Amino acid sequence: MLIFVLNAGSSSLKYQLIDAETAEVKASGLCERIGIDGVMKHQIAEHRKLEIDQPMPTHKEAIEFVLDILTHDDTKVISSIDEISAIGHRVVHGGEHFKKSTLVNEEIIKKIEELIPLAPLHNPANLLGIKICQEILPDKPNVAVFDTAFHQTMPEENYLYAVPHEDYTEHHLRKYGFHGTSHYFVSNEAIKILNKKDTKIVVCHLGNGSSICAVKNGKSIDTTMGLTPLEGLMMGTRSGNIDAGVIPYLMEKKGMDTHQIIDYLNKKSGILGISGISSDLRDVIQASQEGDERATICINMLCNRIKKYICSYAGILGGIDAICFTAGIGENASLIREKACANLGFLNIKIDKKRNEEKSSNNRLISHDDSKVKVFVIPTNEELVIAKDTYALVK
Ligand code: ADP
Repeated sequence: MLIFVLNAGSSSLKYQLIDAETAEVKASGLCERIGIDGVMKHQIAEHRKLEIDQPMPTHKEAIEFVLDILTHDDTKVISSIDEISAIGHRVVHGGEHFKKSTLVNEEIIKKIEELIPLAPLHNPANLLGIKICQEILPDKPNVAVFDTAFHQTMPEENYLYAVPHEDYTEHHLRKYGFHGTSHYFVSNEAIKILNKKDTKIVVCHLGNGSSICAVKNGKSIDTTMGLTPLEGLMMGTRSGNIDAGVIPYLMEKKGMDTHQIIDYLNKKSGILGISGISSDLRDVIQASQEGDERATICINMLCNRIKKYICSYAGILGGIDAICFTAGIGENASLIREKACANLGFLNIKIDKKRNEEKSSNNRLISHDDSKVKVFVIPTNEELVIAKDTYALVK
């Protein structure tokens, strides 16, 4: 059964056409700069790539364009739109209401709309994707898969902030966590490899946005992102944890307003802010190798913060069976994995240098045979989870 997986962002649109039964990706692509000039990168199977510069003024035109390409004579991915059985949508914020994926109807749309204040940058774009599909593919079911849902198993003591409790009950102020689909997929892969009943796993999803999750017996019990994706690790352009006192201090010193401070912490901080070079870790690693001191400090900060969460989650979980690295940095940056796990022998964590350096796109073990804690690199696959959840709800 073919599922069209859609991740609609504010100016971008990522998609995959997946056979949910075989996990085969028939086509994938990314439209960027929607509403600006529009660029589309499209890939059919592994070998046929297509890059098109074409203005895409709206998300609707972008989706229509994608569907057009999929059925076009030149590409022949599918002969007609009828071959698509359903659409699976990534939705960033499901609040406390959505604990699992759900078929979309008018009531569900209303609920997702109500959650916009919790994710003002993301939920409106995700909703737009749903509404466009309802309009242009009116007879196909839509399924919403939430980034927050996997973390709904966190216990209260781990999701509450230490602020007056009525702000939780009245204003839904709490930790929600994100990247849930990825943390679920990766921890589930690790559970299959470990092949035992009770499991304690730490998943490090390190990409442009990064978060770590403590997974006990397949359930999230704590994670580093919070009410918003700003909490926790230092990221590409986000500060991660800082003293909340930094905010009034900066507002006063630099005369910043709320909008400016949000922009500062979300878009100008993190790897970009510290290195002063780029938000792309590859550039920073290269600069560090060429002797740039700030780049080196940036790498050390990043790795120490990952290490701190690994250790604190070892405490929360009462031990660790496996640590999993995933996403752009986690899957590719051996240096970061090595440094984040260095000096953790006291927790029985020991990386094997040679295994860590090997390149492969498969799940792989990178810990030493002496290491009681297994360390894995597990490529994430959020789209497959969305396709499978969609299939399960519509079949
Ligand atoms: P997103 O959160 O946008 O999905 P990705 O998971 O694709 O991000 O991760 C992007 C990050 O991965 C970038 O910061 C990039 O620097 C980093 N990355 C990708 N390949 C490597 C590599 N070989 N070495 C270091 N960092 C890498």
